[in-house]
Amino acid sequence: MAKIGLEVHVQLNTATKLFCGCRNEPNPKPNVNVCPTCLGLPGSKPRINEKAIELGYRIAFITNSKISHKMFFSRKSYFYPDMSKNFQITQYEIPLAIGGYFDVEVKGKRKRVRLIRVHLEEDPARLVHVGGGITTAKYVLADYNRSGVPLCEIVTEPDFKTAEEVVAFMKKLLSYLQHIQVFDVKKGKWRADVNVSVPGGNRSEIKNVGSIKDMEKSIRFEIMRQTHLVKFGKKVDMETRTFDSETGKTYTLRSKEEEIDYGYIFEPDLTSFEMSKDYFKKLDDSLPELPEEIEKRFRKDYGLNHEQASILTYADPALAGFFEKCAKTYNDHKKLANWLIVEVLGFLNSVNKEFYETSMPLRKKQFIKFLELMDSGKMTGRIGKELIGKFIASEDNPEKLLEKEGFSVIKDELKVRRIVKETVSEFPKAVSDYKSGKEKAVHFIVGAVLKKTRLQVDPETVKKMVVEEID
Ligand code: ADP
Ligand code: MG
Ligand code: ZN
Repeated sequence: MAKIGLEVHVQLNTATKLFCGCRNEPNPKPNVNVCPTCLGLPGSKPRINEKAIELGYRIAFITNSKISHKMFFSRKSYFYPDMSKNFQITQYEIPLAIGGYFDVEVKGKRKRVRLIRVHLEEDPARLVHVGGGITTAKYVLADYNRSGVPLCEIVTEPDFKTAEEVVAFMKKLLSYLQHIQVFDVKKGKWRADVNVSVPGGNRSEIKNVGSIKDMEKSIRFEIMRQTHLVKFGKKVDMETRTFDSETGKTYTLRSKEEEIDYGYIFEPDLTSFEMSKDYFKKLDDSLPELPEEIEKRFRKDYGLNHEQASILTYADPALAGFFEKCAKTYNDHKKLANWLIVEVLGFLNSVNKEFYETSMPLRKKQFIKFLELMDSGKMTGRIGKELIGKFIASEDNPEKLLEKEGFSVIKDELKVRRIVKETVSEFPKAVSDYKSGKEKAVHFIVGAVLKKTRLQVDPETVKKMVVEEID
């Protein structure tokens, strides 16, 4: 069995950077959110951003970690163009928190992932490799907008055995981080160093993997590569590697032998300080209800099953709130849940979009109206399914959309019966099949009627009529 351990770096959702007042916000123009401190100019001093500390502690809280009341920063020395002052301010000797855990569910089974540490540090500048990859670029540009952005690093024990477990962990962790508002997917980025080993070999560390898909692919590749080496009696080197999402392979960056000695020293420009008991009490009180609690409550309060409640809670940061607000005025909670999960998420999945990226979170009333159109018979379920994508994309109100698309339910029963009669006469084979006991043959005719009427009829009514016509 493989062993996998993660070092996850998350950019915290603060207004300003960790040690200066520059904006913490992506900017297409390079080197604009900068000042002497985050450029690392000689003589500049860091000042700590209290909000970043608070967000770091929030993460410590939700990961059941032992919290350090003392704040202490260190300098990690290294020489590289992404850090012009030649050291990164980070936490080493005394991290924000240690010894936590985070439980995830994999294939219906609970799994505990132990955490070694949670700590704060500043993000280095972003390097842009021009004319090649990380090892082959013609030249490299540095964008200091990112320099000094607050990062929270979460280090796990090597408790994962498969890529699947890592995926489940990352999905849940990111969902929690958004939920407690320390991470904003629209603004912030995360990246992880993925450590992988197989029995009989050393571990390799894949640096800076930036998406769950890439994590999954890189782990699968790495396990395969290492297993292969061990199987043929070759040595698996202790090394740092990089994943190329285009080739789907990992490549050597440097071997661990030449790993840099970081020469940590304490950071003299930031005094160590202690947070009060009162501070932690207030922090604890300010934490919102956690997804796991929401999931339980959804089952109890709205009669949903575990799967439905989990999807609504974890699939998207905006979804649980949306469901709950709709459920206050729309009483068929199971139908509401089903439409959100099967149709809305199903559609979004097919176009590779997230719920929060659409205008849906702001259109609760319209979505309820959409469901009500079906309840009142003004729109059949089939048309609803047909139109849901357009509804999500168009921002039209559902009545207008229905009209615009020319899908109004045919109210005239005689007209429907006429179409049914005509269709039955067109399929003598299906009719004789039905008569000889193949009840399913009737669906074939119903399908044909639905097609002819562009779904503007209720399938159950049509089925009844078809059976009546045949008999
Ligand atoms: P380093 O600072 O050299 O990267 P750490 O002891 O801080 O070393 O470990 C970093 C990461 O490596 C942790 O996430 C840990 O879980 C992981 N790790 C340690 N041993 C193994 C192993 N045998 N296989 C896979 N991952 C491992
Ligand atoms: Mg490491
Ligand atoms: Zn700055």
